[in-house]
Amino acid sequence: MGAYYDEIEIEDMVWDAEKGVFHYPCPCGDRFEISRRQLADYEDIATCPSCSLVIRVIYDPLDFEDEPDDEEDGAESEEEEEEDSDDDQAFEDAMENLSVSESAPVAVAV
Ligand SMILES: [Zn+2]
Repeated sequence: MGAYYDEIEIEDMVWDAEKGVFHYPCPCGDRFEISRRQLADYEDIATCPSCSLVIRVIYDPLDFEDEPDDEEDGAESEEEEEEDSDDDQAFEDAMENLSVSESAPVAVAV
């Protein structure tokens, strides 16, 4: 684990405005890609779609945290979740069903 093909600084990657990703040439002929959204989520692993190689992207997450587009999307979805109080009851019902189905195989094993 943790075997990166290389570590690349974000300044050395190329920005693709159409796809919204930074990319960097992969030795297999394709290219490593990492989206701006991934960078904003503190992810630093760019993957190649054509092989199993990955690279670690060296960057400052704070540079991407303040992107206005991502900020608005994230804030709206979080507020919606907090206002849904009915979900709590549904979650408790689901937990009851889950514990009932889980206890059956345990009893058989013992
Ligand atoms: Zn590749």
